[in-house]
Amino acid sequence: MSDHPLRIAIDGPSGAGKSTLARALARALGLRYLDTGSMYRAVAWKAMQASALDSDDVVALLDGMDLQVTADPENFRVRVGGIDVTDELRTPSIGRRASEVAQIAAVRAWLLQRQRDEAEHGAVLEGRDIGSVVLPDADAKFFITAPEAERLERRARQLGGASSAEVAEDVRDRDRRDEQRAASPLRVSPGATVINTGGEDEETSLKRLLRVVRASR
Ligand code: C5P
Repeated sequence: MSDHPLRIAIDGPSGAGKSTLARALARALGLRYLDTGSMYRAVAWKAMQASALDSDDVVALLDGMDLQVTADPENFRVRVGGIDVTDELRTPSIGRRASEVAQIAAVRAWLLQRQRDEAEHGAVLEGRDIGSVVLPDADAKFFITAPEAERLERRARQLGGASSAEVAEDVRDRDRRDEQRAASPLRVSPGATVINTGGEDEETSLKRLLRVVRASR
């Protein structure tokens, strides 16, 4: 049994239940929790604030961008320039813009080192390229998925009041962009355990994750 700080990678498409499981896993194992999607959303938030439209404008913004995260599974927070923007990041328009800025290789490179630094003392990292790029040598890697109908339903609940067209755009179009982009596309990375949460409650899925983590130690 190894006693180095555990680093766990969780990837998967939108609405599969990744965040809930990643947070619950971090809590169960006493680890930090990093929602890397929020970091892309923070860059998108900043780009929207600054009306940065093309890639060069977005990349230029990174230089002066002060991005801080609190990697606490009980209360994950994101601050930009000292302002807590966490609750503003969950809208479909920021999600759409996030998946656009996530196609820019320089944005990904800028976030990569920050994400690795957060993982150094043990953490559960959640995103799209954690097992493939951010932590290729993670102690355990998961790809969390669920049937599309369930992902749409889950997202509709999270977005409370959004139209079905908005929900479909939020899930389908974003997944397509994430899977097809050239820079670090969403893929099942080698060595990842695929967990399909379809028709399963959170507790059952969490137990499956914990079994894999324990077997890996
Ligand atoms: O996970 P979340 O839906 O908040 O992520 C928002 C967007 O950020 C994703 O659609 C994806 O384009 C991008 N992302 C990424 N790589 C990650 C995490 C998120 O490209 N590791």
